[in-house]
Amino acid sequence: MMPAAQRADFAACSGCSLCLLVCPAWRRTRDLRDTPHGRAKALQHGVAVVELKESIESCTLCGACEPVCPENIDLVGMLLELRRQLPPMILTRNITTNMQAERPRENVTLSASTPALVAGGMYFGRPALLARIKTLLGSARGITVANDNGADIALALEIGATVPPQRIERFLAPLRAHKTIVLTDGLLLRQVRAWLPEARVAGLGEALGALAPLRRQLRAGDLYVIDPRAYHADHERLVTHYDGLRAETGCTLNLDLQRIAIPATARSLRQRLGADAIDDAPQLRWLLQGRTIARIVVESESDRFAIGQLCTLPVVHLAELADDPSSPEGKQS
Ligand code: SF4
Ligand code: SF4
Repeated sequence: MMPAAQRADFAACSGCSLCLLVCPAWRRTRDLRDTPHGRAKALQHGVAVVELKESIESCTLCGACEPVCPENIDLVGMLLELRRQLPPMILTRNITTNMQAERPRENVTLSASTPALVAGGMYFGRPALLARIKTLLGSARGITVANDNGADIALALEIGATVPPQRIERFLAPLRAHKTIVLTDGLLLRQVRAWLPEARVAGLGEALGALAPLRRQLRAGDLYVIDPRAYHADHERLVTHYDGLRAETGCTLNLDLQRIAIPATARSLRQRLGADAIDDAPQLRWLLQGRTIARIVVESESDRFAIGQLCTLPVVHLAELADDPSSPEGKQS
């Protein structure tokens, strides 16, 4: 495989259509224009970026298309670049202005020997879950929770806003002290890995899923929902991690035959920003179709929330497995 620095761009697209098979945006609209194939062919034929606005905003940024693309095109990176080229929304301008005006924050005292946890806002809204994650990940050496979680940077990446270099530096400065950084946001994870190539950067699912006490709680009958953004950003390496998890526990994973993760939701940019109504039911139906399962275990708190709204099955965050009354250890506590 080519190193990331040599990845191809849309000019290399052969039109093979393999990306359609895994693309939740295509599943939602059945419109070729809403796919990497459609965007690549349009750009190859001279269509202006602004004419592709709807298509560019339809992408969920799940990253599923990247591992299947035989031309090794940097499909997520290119989509983010196309968003940056669209005429800015008011939100885009505001977020950049706010980041420019922001004063440096006082950082928490850092210990380089511990991993750092960069947790998204949803986790701070569930303090018991965050405390459970800290206990699990910090059991050996403790863990430092970053007080700057880069939520504004994650949003800026998603909507195509420019992130001022000084904001990037403020975010990264405390993280540089850590050899291991765990992030809950898959898009931010992808970027942090590029910014800090020396660090070991892992998603929350990978970090928790490596812990034996949690693996012991997984069983046949569980559907384990991998966070697609984090997984596809490091697909080749993580395939082995999840193969091991499945073999050891007997759980079912949200993987298709190509070992691409089927996302639990397929929200466009406008749906994520609340400009269009959300309808997660079709994608969730596709995820559950033909499966006989008793419990859903998720890596991502936003997936727990979204699936819990629509599904009558128990939905448990991976970190809470030992507290689940139906788990062997949960029954004892
Ligand atoms: S990132 Fe996901 S939604 Fe976007 S084009 Fe690729 S597969 Fe489709
Ligand atoms: S998989 Fe890659 S080469 Fe094939 S149509 Fe999609 S973007 Fe083009």
